[in-house]
This record gives sequence, C-alpha cells and structure tokens, in this order.
Amino acid sequence: MVGASRRFDFSASHRYWRDEWSQQENERVFGKCTSPYGHGHNYTLDVTIRGTPDPATGMIMNMVDLKALVNEVLDAFDHKHLNEDTPYFKDLIPTTENIVRVLWRLIAPRLPAGVALAHLRLYEMRDLWADYDGSDEASFSRSYVFSAAHRLHSAQLSDAENQQLYGKCNNPNGHGHNYTLEVTVDGAVDPQTGMVIDMVALDGQVRGVIDTLDHKHIDREVPWFAARASTGEHIVLYLWELLAARLEGQLRHLRLWETQNNVFEYSGER
Ligand SMILES: [Zn+2]
Ligand SMILES: [Zn+2]
Repeated sequence: MVGASRRFDFSASHRYWRDEWSQQENERVFGKCTSPYGHGHNYTLDVTIRGTPDPATGMIMNMVDLKALVNEVLDAFDHKHLNEDTPYFKDLIPTTENIVRVLWRLIAPRLPAGVALAHLRLYEMRDLWADYDGSDEASFSRSYVFSAAHRLHSAQLSDAENQQLYGKCNNPNGHGHNYTLEVTVDGAVDPQTGMVIDMVALDGQVRGVIDTLDHKHIDREVPWFAARASTGEHIVLYLWELLAARLEGQLRHLRLWETQNNVFEYSGER
C-alpha cells in the first residue's frame, strides 16, 4: 500500500459555547472563543489516502478527482460560520478535534473502492492542529517557542575533543537559539468540550516547563544539564520527563526544532 497526500484550505468562523453552562464556566473552558459574534481562521487540511497504485496510471487515484471530491465537502465549510451555516455543530463544539472528525465522516465514504482514507490533519493555525485516523481517539498538537543560550560541551571529553566534536557550538561563552517545541497529546474527545485535553491547562503545564529554559543559559542555570551536554536530544528528553509527569498519560510526542534545519523527536519508550 502506498500513501498520497494533498493539502486543502478553507476559511470559516466559529464560536465555542454551551447553553447549559454559565457564562463563567464557558469562559473558564473556552476563553476568548466564547465571543458571541464568533471569530475565524484560515484552516489547512492535509488529506492522506492509501491504496495500491493502478498499474496503468501509476496512481492510487487521480489527484484531480481527490481534489474535486474533497472540495465538494469543503464547499459547505468555506467562508461559512460553522455553528450557524452547517448542520454538524448544533450540539458539537467546532473545535479542531471535532471538525477533523466530521470531515473524516464526510470524506471517507466518498472515496472510490480500493482507496482508503488513512489520515487527516487539520490546522486551525500554524501552531495548533489536530490529527485523526478514524479511530476512537484523536490527537491535538500545539507548538511553543522559547529562547535559550547553551554551549555544547561534554565533561567526559577533553577540551580538545570537545572542540573537535562540537566545533563552533563549543564556544566557551555559549550561543543561543529560538527553540520551537511541538507537543502532541492524545485521548478520547470530550463530548462536552470537544477537546482531547483542557487547552488552558495544557498551555499552563507546557509554559511551566518551558519557563525552566526560556531566556536562560541551559548549561549554567538548569541543574538537569550539569552533567549532560545540552544537545537537542538531551533537551527533548528533559522536556519529556517533565511534561509526561504533568500530562497524566496523554503525552504522545515531542518534536523540538533547534533551528530550521535541526529537529529532535521523542515519543517515550513504548
Ligand atoms: Zn477559533
Ligand atoms: Zn546550539
């Protein structure tokens, strides 16, 4: 089986609100998204299909057909108010997790025989997205930025070996990066909130952990790195250790961008 993906865009407004909750409870859970007038996003949808390439065409399905079929679904969402103009969100909060699951239900049955819908990723913003593969659970990801100084230097190597191994990154006075951390959590989508995790709580926990590094010199100010080189591998392990303890079994994946070119990932030892 081979996979193929195509990206789609649509723009829509929405509002998060539960009539049976007080204003205060709505605001506690949904924050600014409770505004009665609604607000909007440029959504990006990545559709991945899976199948066996046709021997004659070499394709799982013609991308032109996939484009037409998905756009037919998205026409009902594009430049609409999701709560008011579509039938799907009368009792369902139009969170990214819920929208991606509705899109799955609409797109999957439209695919021709022999072609399976393998994965959907829906970005609400560049730093917030949900993934869904048709199962009972969904995953939710957010990315966060922090800035820190560090020096690559191993206490287990000589000064000459450190210089040889790490080069410029061994500069005694250090250097710094804007790190981007992508945090992925998963779980069942809460029927009341439409979320796999309380987003306000997630932000608080991640910010709390990131603050231990943000605007710090990692080697000099963070005890965990006293005996460990502050490589991307070690930083992602450090972040995992702290976040896994706070996210009650929901942490699934971390991706740490040190620069645009260097990325480090960890999913725990499973
Ligand atoms: Zn929104
Ligand atoms: Zn560096």
